[in-house]
Amino acid sequence: MIPVRLLMIAATVAMASSVNVLADSISDNPFYTASALPFQAPPFDKIKDADYQPAIDEAIRLHNLEVQQIAGNPDAPTFENTYVALEKSGQMLNRVLQVFNAVAGANTDPVLQQLQEDIAPKLAAHNDAIYLNSTLFQRVAAVHKQLGTMKLDAESKRLVTVVYRTFVLAGAKLSDAEKTKLKALNEAESTLSSQFGNRLRDATKKAALVVDSREKLAGLSDAEITAAARAAKDRGLPEGKFVLTLQNTTQQPLLRDLTDRSTREALFKASWNRTEMGDGNDTRKLIVRIAAIRAQQAKLLGFPNYAAWKLNDQMAKTPAAAIGFMQKLVPAATARAQREAKDIQAKIDQDQAALNQPSFKLQPWDWEMYAEQVKKERYDVDENQIRPYFEINNVLQNGVFYAANQLYGLTFKERHDLPVYQEDVRVFDVFDQDGQQIALFYCDYFKRDNKNGGAWMDNFVGQSTLLGTKPVIYNVTNFTKPAAGQPALLSFDDVITMFHEFGHGLHGIFANEKYPTLSGTSTARDFVEFPSQFNEHWATEPAVFAHYAKHHQSGAAMPDALVGKMKNAGKFNKGYSMTELSAAALLDLDWHSISASAPLQDADRFEVAALKKDKIYLAEVPSRYRSSYFLHIWGNGYAAGYYAYPWTQMLADDAYDWFQTHGGLTSANGDRFRALILSRGNTEELAQMYKTWRGSDPKIAPMLENRGLK
Ligand SMILES: [Zn+2]
Repeated sequence: MIPVRLLMIAATVAMASSVNVLADSISDNPFYTASALPFQAPPFDKIKDADYQPAIDEAIRLHNLEVQQIAGNPDAPTFENTYVALEKSGQMLNRVLQVFNAVAGANTDPVLQQLQEDIAPKLAAHNDAIYLNSTLFQRVAAVHKQLGTMKLDAESKRLVTVVYRTFVLAGAKLSDAEKTKLKALNEAESTLSSQFGNRLRDATKKAALVVDSREKLAGLSDAEITAAARAAKDRGLPEGKFVLTLQNTTQQPLLRDLTDRSTREALFKASWNRTEMGDGNDTRKLIVRIAAIRAQQAKLLGFPNYAAWKLNDQMAKTPAAAIGFMQKLVPAATARAQREAKDIQAKIDQDQAALNQPSFKLQPWDWEMYAEQVKKERYDVDENQIRPYFEINNVLQNGVFYAANQLYGLTFKERHDLPVYQEDVRVFDVFDQDGQQIALFYCDYFKRDNKNGGAWMDNFVGQSTLLGTKPVIYNVTNFTKPAAGQPALLSFDDVITMFHEFGHGLHGIFANEKYPTLSGTSTARDFVEFPSQFNEHWATEPAVFAHYAKHHQSGAAMPDALVGKMKNAGKFNKGYSMTELSAAALLDLDWHSISASAPLQDADRFEVAALKKDKIYLAEVPSRYRSSYFLHIWGNGYAAGYYAYPWTQMLADDAYDWFQTHGGLTSANGDRFRALILSRGNTEELAQMYKTWRGSDPKIAPMLENRGLK
């Protein structure tokens, strides 16, 4: 994944005149001027926790001054004095936030956590101060009006289109009275949204399942049982009790191993009903109000519903396009899920018969456990057999870097002279085909207690020829760190994650834009996961796989039989996972297709009706998130955007299909992909960018084939 950025306008050079009024301490701040290190790499050896807050405050102040100067310019508005000036503004703010976000995500501490909470409202207000500034917008609009007759290069025209649209979508065209109304709706939404987050957190904690006896935990490992006993003790429960805590999704990982069916049912129901207990943590009334407020916001901005508003600047452009895509996916996913359900039911019948017990009908709480058994029977893959072939350095150098070399001619050289924020972080120089260095690449692969979960990519320094900056990219993941002196042996999922995040990295490394707003990964959400998911394909490309999947001690290639099993096992249970994901994506689009005139909904009835209408209501395969605990859409900024996950899978698989039919892993194919996609950032309409490269619109067939849904 890549983080969602709050500020869309990139910012700029501190003005000389403001230097006089600064206290000494600020001019000594490591963020005050651009770093003198190569590629303006962050001077981590000089940055202290105490530097962030004053740097952010000062950077916001400077950015405001710059924006005021642009808005108040007595000269007639021009592309240069408005759009280019905005692109140059806020550089100190970008500098400090890029480093702050990186460290707060990957190496946090209580000071940074507190600061994160403190600056969120400041940045939101700062954003409003720019996008709802009517004097500034008049200039932005005046230049935009002349777009058809201006002599500008294509990228500059695109900048005008994108920046103008961002202002309009944020409400810049509204009257003062409407702006006041919008701000009130924004505020109400954000209050309800944070209440939702708080209730969900408390509800999830409270809904943890209390189990009375060790027998009921049969199937769990000793370590899991010990953890459950400790969780009970932490909650002040007496000896002999156990607590199974909940994860955020509907399905719970422990359901795979719990052999006692009544415990499985209780754990599943605890998850499913966590926010629907009718107590103070019930979220149903909140979400229907958030949905209604969003419909009002959309109406104010002239859209029929929230999804239409939010998709306006995405690749899909309209809810109809996103829903149309999902409708092509649903029949294949559900048909496959139903076949899997049959296999699982057969396994249940067989097991029960062997035990001389009556059989039972498959329920959601049975799925994970029996699916795992069917998988073991059919594919017989043991993780411990696989890991020795995926030693981390081998995967990085001979897999990830090798694929980038074969396709794009890149070479990499590790360096040890640049400061890092934590000793596990590594830094590489990235060289282009002609030997010129084009980027710095940092990687931070091992799990730590003070690192967020998951994996992500971002820039320490964004690329822009206007600002003279080159890409400084980082990848963060959570692989298990080996004991001192032991090799780090990855799972195949880890390998895929490494290729995925490096795919984002390539989108950043090849960025070749003039304007920071259009550079690298600053594209739409339903496009940005395309280069990363596309890059995953090279992990299993035979020529690449054979180059890195070698035993870390003997150097022997992975035996063919094991490779075959591993690949087949990877296609298992795809019907279930695509169905639960699609149900969530459709629920999201349905909630955000409500019109402003609709009455307040009943959350449960709405959900069931929506899933039935979408033909994805399967009793055994519930949505990955129930509406009442769907954090992505009510609390995390993914509203009307969850479809982007399968959408970008479609792009990635369709793109790989193009490579396959044009000779596969060749530098000619790589160069072309780089020239038309990876180096283009957001410099043209994304659907058109894709079409120019592919020769047609994306097709869903390769995705269905590749995900085992054909
Ligand atoms: Zn990603």
